[in-house]
Amino acid sequence: MDISLARSWVQAVAAAVDEQKDQLTQLDSAIGDADHGANMHRGFSAVLDVLDGQEPATVGDVLVKTGSTLVSKVGGASGPLYGSVFRAIGKKLDEPTAGTREFADALAAGLENLQRLGAAAPGDKTMVDAYGPALEAFLRIADADGGFAEAAAAAADAAEEGMRATTPLQARKGRASYLGTRSVGHQDPGATSTALVFRALADTAA
Ligand code: ADP
Ligand code: MG
Ligand code: MG
Repeated sequence: MDISLARSWVQAVAAAVDEQKDQLTQLDSAIGDADHGANMHRGFSAVLDVLDGQEPATVGDVLVKTGSTLVSKVGGASGPLYGSVFRAIGKKLDEPTAGTREFADALAAGLENLQRLGAAAPGDKTMVDAYGPALEAFLRIADADGGFAEAAAAAADAAEEGMRATTPLQARKGRASYLGTRSVGHQDPGATSTALVFRALADTAA
């Protein structure tokens, strides 16, 4: 991972969100308040604008700026949660480049912050259910001295599997939890956008 890849990753997330915003909103209309696509789109559009005028010196500069912008521009639960994830990842990456192992540690810090802020456990039907498996897959490849692209591809596959596995779950965190058992049978919007984030990383690194 280097500064240019970090920037391309965030741009790829923005493009994927732009393309999928209606689907994200549709998922959120089933078990939430139908704004997840709009929230993500507003956030990542602002991120693109902010990064445009930046001369980052480290990978972290790109990702911390991304996180801070999401926190300030997105009102829903997902803004502060994604914001803290990107900030935590970025804070670990204070050099112009980062190896696969260092990036794995940064991703781990991201999940730690997500769970510290949101208090969701695996199986609560949140973005944790995509992020957790993605991190595990990335770590597995990093531990085996695999390359960045391979780790990112495995993470994206695992995130998508985790995303699909949210469908039968009952939500225990966020708005969807207000529905009780009526949240069962719907894919979680946040787990879906988290899978987009990891797929964008894999596509960018390929
Ligand atoms: P809001 O629910 O405020 O309208 P969004 O619609 O943008 O915010 O985001 C909803 C998504 O946020 C959910 O699908 C879920 O994945 C995620 N989410 C909500 N609460 C939590 C939490 N406490 N921890 C992790 N993720 C959460
Ligand atoms: Mg919502
Ligand atoms: Mg909302």
